[in-house]
Amino acid sequence: MSKTTLKVESFSNALNHAKHEEEILAYWDQTNAFKRSIAERPSNKPYVFYDGPPFATGLPHYGHLLASTAKDVVPRYWTMKGYRVERTWGWDCHGVPIENMIESELGLKGGKKGIEELGIDKFNSACRASILRYDKEWQVTIKRLGRWVDFENSYKTMDKTFMESVWWAFKTLYDKDLVYQGRKVVLYCPRCSTPLSNFEIAMDNSYKDVESHSVYVKFKLKDTQNEYFVAWTTTPWTLPGNVGLAVNPTAEYVQVEHQGELLWIAESLVEKVTGSALEPLTHKLGKELVGLTYEPLFSYLPTGDAKSFVVCGADFVSLEDGTGIVHTAAIYGEDDYQLAIKEGLATIPMLDDQGKFMDFVTPLSGQYYAKTQKWIIEDLTARGLMLRAEMTTHSYPFCYRCGTALYYNAIPAWFINIQKIKPDLIKQNLDINWYPSFLKHGRFGKGFETAPDWNISRSRYWGTPMPIWVGEKSGKIRVIGSTEELKRWSTSVLPSLTDIHREFIDDIKVYVDDEKTEVGTRIPDVFDCWIESGSMPFASQHYPFEDKSSFESRYPAQYIVEYIAQTRAWFYTLHVMSVALFGKPAFENAVTTGTILAEDGTKMSKSKKNYPDPTLLIDKYGVDSLRLYLMSSVVMKADNLSFSESAVDDIRKNVLNIWWNIFAFYTSSRMETVQSLETQSSLGVLDRWLVSKIEGLTQTVTKHMDAYDVVQASRPLMAFAKEFSTWYLRLSRDRLRTSPESQAVLGDALKRYCLLMAPFAPFMAERIYQNLGFSDSLDSIHLELWPTSNDANIDLSLESEMEIVMQIVEKGHAARKEGGIRLRQPLASLSLTTPGVINEELQELIKDELNVKAIKVEKGEALLVNLDLNLTPDLLEEGAARDVMRDIQGARKKLGLKPSDKVIVELVSWPESWTEEIKKKVGAKELVTGSVLKIVKI
Ligand SMILES: [Zn+2]
Repeated sequence: MSKTTLKVESFSNALNHAKHEEEILAYWDQTNAFKRSIAERPSNKPYVFYDGPPFATGLPHYGHLLASTAKDVVPRYWTMKGYRVERTWGWDCHGVPIENMIESELGLKGGKKGIEELGIDKFNSACRASILRYDKEWQVTIKRLGRWVDFENSYKTMDKTFMESVWWAFKTLYDKDLVYQGRKVVLYCPRCSTPLSNFEIAMDNSYKDVESHSVYVKFKLKDTQNEYFVAWTTTPWTLPGNVGLAVNPTAEYVQVEHQGELLWIAESLVEKVTGSALEPLTHKLGKELVGLTYEPLFSYLPTGDAKSFVVCGADFVSLEDGTGIVHTAAIYGEDDYQLAIKEGLATIPMLDDQGKFMDFVTPLSGQYYAKTQKWIIEDLTARGLMLRAEMTTHSYPFCYRCGTALYYNAIPAWFINIQKIKPDLIKQNLDINWYPSFLKHGRFGKGFETAPDWNISRSRYWGTPMPIWVGEKSGKIRVIGSTEELKRWSTSVLPSLTDIHREFIDDIKVYVDDEKTEVGTRIPDVFDCWIESGSMPFASQHYPFEDKSSFESRYPAQYIVEYIAQTRAWFYTLHVMSVALFGKPAFENAVTTGTILAEDGTKMSKSKKNYPDPTLLIDKYGVDSLRLYLMSSVVMKADNLSFSESAVDDIRKNVLNIWWNIFAFYTSSRMETVQSLETQSSLGVLDRWLVSKIEGLTQTVTKHMDAYDVVQASRPLMAFAKEFSTWYLRLSRDRLRTSPESQAVLGDALKRYCLLMAPFAPFMAERIYQNLGFSDSLDSIHLELWPTSNDANIDLSLESEMEIVMQIVEKGHAARKEGGIRLRQPLASLSLTTPGVINEELQELIKDELNVKAIKVEKGEALLVNLDLNLTPDLLEEGAARDVMRDIQGARKKLGLKPSDKVIVELVSWPESWTEEIKKKVGAKELVTGSVLKIVKI
């Protein structure tokens, strides 16, 4: 394939964008355009872009197309600016989604138990084997989108090299004393048997409004007949684990009589709880209740000697709702756990790691927690301990991976100490350029202020194993930072390790002391896979084990782009890892996109089919239209976009087709080999205007692209197509057919337009560029350098005068239309009042365009356009003559006559005085009277 295959043979067929684009794709392959666009740039001038690796378990959707377009447009721009922009694909391979998929494909039951019965080795092999199941589909889609990225050398987070770098990073953090083991209350998924980190919860769609229980339970005071504390909870399943009650020490509590019983409730909530404004029998401050004990609701919990079933004081107790008395099961809530630690309350888990009751809760043993609520409510009701039980709507968190309802759970876990590096995280963020800029101090910056420590351990299987070995005697810890180190401290001689997943290292024992006296076992946990994506910059390079300086000289990256939820996820973890390891940010410029919704503003949903299939859409309108649509829309300003198919079509029609038509006119009217124009001085006013506009456009696009504002860069570029065509080209057609200077101006402007469009609409830009006929054109427009604007050619006063001319012409056309006078009918005069200057050249333009004989200009405050609509006999004759000439020209064209062909014309009638003029204009030897218009070639 060569350039000639992109030759446009005919403009008579309707444009088939998709077909054109596929030809371009083949052309790029043939010319090796992508690789050359990197290789032909100096290696010492890198521009670094980090690609957030997608999960390998799903197919690409509009969100990916959006991100991928943004990941292509900006690198293409910087390539044209002369930088070497390497782009390598990556795959996020580990984590719970793939585990879930494999579990269900293998038909494993019972969560973790099922996996362990099968064997971790078999399970992980199945994960490994299926991880890239969709990579072909991805490659096809990404390629069709026009995104240039190297799939061949893609990195995978399951590569041994990648995982080893993660070990190195973890060990470095451990040595910096930024890692600790603790028990923390975290949102926990019983289905995945794993906690979720705060930024996983902060991603969208985690919370849903659901119906849940709302119960008011009576706790009987010890050694009383009928005196109760009333506590409120929306999680009745925690009641068997109750170990204490909390009151607000400074709040007022009262005892009231209700149905023969004495109830303690916060004074302000009595009516809400009991339904009537009961008269208080006794008043007490919360702190006076502290220390009182009550009879346990259930007797299953082995509390032993630990403090339990006692009233404690706690500031977190609110008087907004409930009863002002809070039941606590110690470990199933953040506040609860803190209180339990402070008060020394018993902290006994009653659920196993899959959310099932342990055996000591005898009637519920083995039952899934959420399914026990009915039994608990009925049991308490039967025993007269339920004051009220009803349903209410509650915002509740769900696992974003498997959809299971989460609960708070205090579990043993490993953490990165975010509190310790928080000031640095906040400070280093100041050096990042965010687009849109409000994210810097908003969503991203704010996130750090309240960030808890990062729980990085997961009790799962398919992930990078945490390299922590614990001594069997003393509990001493050794953290391993490389396979080399593992060999050095292993208690046996190791073969060379080709893989370091769990099945390969779980059995390896390691000396935890330097004297090699104490043997340690690895903890079973794997890393939160966000540690891996956060390690992508260095782990994809196998840093520091290979080519250290290559990474160091290219760090941090200049550019990353992802959708807005990543400010709490990937952007967050990149920043944490980078600041903790290297003391600087991982990226200099971050662009965030919004979310693409269905046209009606709801979420795009496969089952509802409320959006067009991307493949069909691309076939219909071409990818350039889609790319321009996405890049010019609010979704690139982190807003949500309701996807509109017709808007994509509008861009096809109003930008791409118009651009093509300008090119078509240029090609068909061009006289000889094109040369760039040497001097602008002798040009006509429209040509000077076009030159000025295109230079200004170059300035604008460059300025905004430099600032990562693709919206402000693409919109004026798209809008200009129409002005280019309906103003410049329409008014210049005649001149362009005869003036080599004007043709050169148009050729240059078209080439410039292609260059400016190249990052956004790479296909059409390539196609037109390759057919403009410049002798110095390169094998691909994407090998070209970005144009610099020549400010000397920018004539702002001409541009603003032209604006006024456009307005005058518009008003003139409107006046003609109103008077019912067609444009071919000449008119005597136009008088203008204008605050600006309309020089002679522009006056001629107006005269031509509005078909008037004379123009009179006066200076005045406002713009007034007054067209003389009076038709004299002379004007009417001229109008008739113009009609006749046009009809004859049309008929000649239909017969396919050349301009040099002479004819005899038969006509019904024509104005006598115009005979010679008509003959000259239409190349007629003779005009004769006939019954219809007829042309005979002679
Ligand atoms: Zn889950």
